[in-house]
Amino acid sequence: MLELKNLSVGYDGRYVIRDVNLSFEPGMIYTIIGKNGSGKSTLLKSCSGLLKPKVGSVLLDGKALSQYPANQRAQKVSYLSQSTSTPNITVERLMAHARFPHLSYPKKLQREDINIIYRALGDMRAQCFVHDSLRELSGGERQRVYLAMQLAQDTDILLLDEPTTYLDIEYQLSLMKLLQKLKAQGKTVIMVLHDLEQALKYSDRIIVIDAGKEIHTGTPEEILNSGILKKVFHVDVRRSEYCFE
Ligand code: ADP
Repeated sequence: MLELKNLSVGYDGRYVIRDVNLSFEPGMIYTIIGKNGSGKSTLLKSCSGLLKPKVGSVLLDGKALSQYPANQRAQKVSYLSQSTSTPNITVERLMAHARFPHLSYPKKLQREDINIIYRALGDMRAQCFVHDSLRELSGGERQRVYLAMQLAQDTDILLLDEPTTYLDIEYQLSLMKLLQKLKAQGKTVIMVLHDLEQALKYSDRIIVIDAGKEIHTGTPEEILNSGILKKVFHVDVRRSEYCFE
């Protein structure tokens, strides 16, 4: 289980998130929402261990995340960031990296690793790109490969920052269904989503960061009824009669 205890994080001398206490249980989907610049990515990044707490701690199974060797941490927690630069490697090579935390010396992929890699590519319908250079792919194709990479890392906790970026609606929906399957397997999914409708529809808990950087958590129903969405986003939210399947 991942827990944030009195966590404050930020950059240089500036705090972005202050004194947050949250627990992320297995078999649940959590979605962080809030306006641009409210600190969603910062909060997610601190859950990954890549951004160190200024105050407080991030605990994984009761032990500070920062005390895990990188390899052990990567066996338990995977993190899909909002991609910035694209490495100049093939999809096959990229996918192999996902299995490295699970390999002992001399880090040679075993049959089982290859099966996991192809299953993950299959889940994202991305097998056809396996010999392509990552840089030749479109934004959406590349995003599917990054998602497959994260699946192949096969961790109990998945952190995803805007995972639907560049994806066509068809792939967005199949990703949401896949995340529900992972949840049913007992995994913890923590993500940042832009799309409020998807956030309310697919999450067990919503974490809202408001303008004052205060954190509100609740079930989608509780968040809908609390009026916080109106306060943060300045929009009225009604139940939609349209439904994409
Ligand atoms: P969100 O994901 O909600 O859009 P972020 O967590 O990316 O927000 O950013 C929160 C604040 O932290 C913003 O003011 C942003 O400019 C600042 N910030 C984000 N990343 C960095 C960084 N690497 N260095 C300095 N400031 C940053």
